[in-house]
Order: sequence, then C-alpha cells, then structure tokens
Amino acid sequence: MPSTTTSKVSRWDQHGREHVVHVQKSGIQRMLTCDTCGWRKGAQFLPWLKAEEHLVEAHQATVDPGV
Ligand SMILES: [Zn+2]
Repeated sequence: MPSTTTSKVSRWDQHGREHVVHVQKSGIQRMLTCDTCGWRKGAQFLPWLKAEEHLVEAHQATVDPGV
C-alpha cells in the first residue's frame, strides 16, 4: 500500500526505462512530480491513479515493476 506521506509510482516503458512520479502530500491535496519530464500536478483524489495515467500517456510506461 502507498505511504500516507511521500510515495512514488514507477512504471517501465517498452524499452525497459523506468519512469517515476513522486507523490507528496501538500495540504489537503497531493502534488505529483514526474522525474522524467518535470510534469507537476495537484490531485485531491486518487493521486496514484493520475500518476499512472501520466506515465501511460506521456511515456507509454505501462509495466509495473512490482508485479
Ligand atoms: Zn512525465
């Protein structure tokens, strides 16, 4: 399960590159930051889902290394 404070979502693309979105608590919402492209977004609900969406849409990174 994700941590309640700082966490991250990592996915690999088809080339085996790892892409990481960090999830930081910021007041009542979470701030998402992508290591690869510097993308940032605030999310009040389901930040991990939004991180996954970004990884797929921006980096075609769909492989969960935890599986
Ligand atoms: Zn990105």
